[in-house]
Amino acid sequence: MKRIIIKNLHDHVDEEVIIAGWVDVRRDQGKMVFFDFRDTSGKVQGVVLPGSEAMDRAKELRPEWVVEVKGKVNKRPGKAAKSGVLNGDIELEVLGITVLNEAKTPPFEITEDTKDIDELVRFKYRYLDLRTERMQKNIKTRSEFVRKCREFLFKDDFTEIETPLLTESTPEGSRDFVVPSRLNPGKFYALPQSPQQYKQLLMTAGFEKYFQTARALRDEDLRADRGFEHTQIDIEISFVNMEEVMNKTEEMIVKTVESMGYIIKEKPFPRVTYKEAMEKYGDDKFDLRTEEDKENGVLAYAWVVEFPFFEKTDDGKWTFSHNPFSMPIPEHVEWLLEGKNIEQIIAQQYDLVCNGFETGGGSIRAHKREILEATYKVMGNTKEETEEKVGHMLEAFDYGTPPHGGIALGVERNVMNLTGEDGLREVQAFPMTRGGQPSVMEGPTEIKKEQLREYGLEVKKK
Ligand code: ASP
Repeated sequence: MKRIIIKNLHDHVDEEVIIAGWVDVRRDQGKMVFFDFRDTSGKVQGVVLPGSEAMDRAKELRPEWVVEVKGKVNKRPGKAAKSGVLNGDIELEVLGITVLNEAKTPPFEITEDTKDIDELVRFKYRYLDLRTERMQKNIKTRSEFVRKCREFLFKDDFTEIETPLLTESTPEGSRDFVVPSRLNPGKFYALPQSPQQYKQLLMTAGFEKYFQTARALRDEDLRADRGFEHTQIDIEISFVNMEEVMNKTEEMIVKTVESMGYIIKEKPFPRVTYKEAMEKYGDDKFDLRTEEDKENGVLAYAWVVEFPFFEKTDDGKWTFSHNPFSMPIPEHVEWLLEGKNIEQIIAQQYDLVCNGFETGGGSIRAHKREILEATYKVMGNTKEETEEKVGHMLEAFDYGTPPHGGIALGVERNVMNLTGEDGLREVQAFPMTRGGQPSVMEGPTEIKKEQLREYGLEVKKK
C-alpha cells in the first residue's frame, strides 16, 4: 500500500490507507486511545478502538515518535466533526502501527507557539522548533513568495545566474566577512555584501535581464530585522530607466502577493520623495497602515525616490548614501563630474518600503568610466585608489557596457510582512542568535594550529 499524505485523506473515505508522520498528541482514555497524527501537509485524528490489535502499541506511543499507521478513513459522526479544523470531518480508525523511530521528550512543546521560548533553546533545537505550526507556515510562505517571484521573472525572459561567494569586497556600507586564502597566505577573500558588481558585469556581458536568489553577507550589528546573512531577489536589467525598473518590480510584487491572497493598500504604489518622507514621517521607511489595516494583514507598499547621492561621514568626508555605483539624475551629472554642490546631488535611487520596513532598493547605475571615477573622487579617493578599488569596473565600462539598472528585494523582510512576524529569524530556517551563533551547530569555532599555519595566520589571544 502506498503512503497517503494526510491532506489527501479526504479522497479516501471508507478505504484502508497508510499514513506516515509524527505523533502530535496522544489522549489515552483507557479503553480507547486518541491521537493527532501530523505530517508536513496537516493533521488528522486517529482512534484506536477497544479490542484493536494496535492497542498495545498505541499505549506505548509518545508525542514526536515517528510512525507508520494503517487505518480506515471514516467520516466523523455528526456533532463530533470539528469545523474549521483541517480534516475535522474525518478520522482514521487505527488498525496497525509501525514505529519508525522513537523520540525523547522535546525541550519545549511542539504543539504550542514557541515565540516565548528562549532563543538559545529554540535555535539549539531548531529542527524541533521548525516542526511547530507557525514555523512550518513561515518557511512555506517564504518558499512560495520566492517561487512566485522567480516564475514571474522566468516568464519575462530573465536569466538566472549565480555569482561567486569568494570574491573581493563590494561596498554596501557594512563590514566584510573575510576568508583566508591557503594558496595566498596573508591574503583574504571577501564574502559578497551583494552581487552588485557581478550583476553589472553581466550587463556588460550582454545578458540584459538577470536575476538571482542571492545570499548576501554583511558583518553588521545584529537587530531584529538584520542578520549577518540574508537572501535577496537580485535583479538587473539593461536599457532601462528608473520608471521601468520600478514598474517591473511593482508588477512582480503585486502579482506575487495577490496570488497568495494578500491585500495591497494602494496601487499603483504611492511615491514619496526622500525629503517628503523625512518631513512627514521622520524616516525614509514608514508605515502607511491604519490600525484596522494592521489587523487585516494589509500590505502598504510605497516607493521612496530622490535620495541624496552622498552623505557626510562622522569625520566630515563624503560617502555614498546608498550605492556608489548609482547614476545621478540627468540634471546633476554635471555637478558630480565637476565635484560641486555635492550635498544637493540626487541619485537615481529607489527604495521600496512596506509596513515600516525597507524591503527593497536599487538604482540606475553608472555605466561610464567618468561617472564612477567622479563618485570615487568625491569620496576622497585619488585616481590610484579608485583604480585599485574599482579599476575592473572602469575597465569593463570601457568595453561597451550598456546603460542599466536594477534592484534587490530582501526576502526576509518581505516575508516578515507576509507572515506578520517582527523578526527576520522567524522566517529563516536556520538563523543565528543575536550573539552571532549559528542554529544547532557551534560557531564561530577556533581552528587547528596546522590550519592556521597553512593560512599563514597567527591568533593573538587577548
Ligand atoms: N546592491 C543593492 C543592495 O544589495 C541593491 C541594488 O542596488 O540592486 O542593497
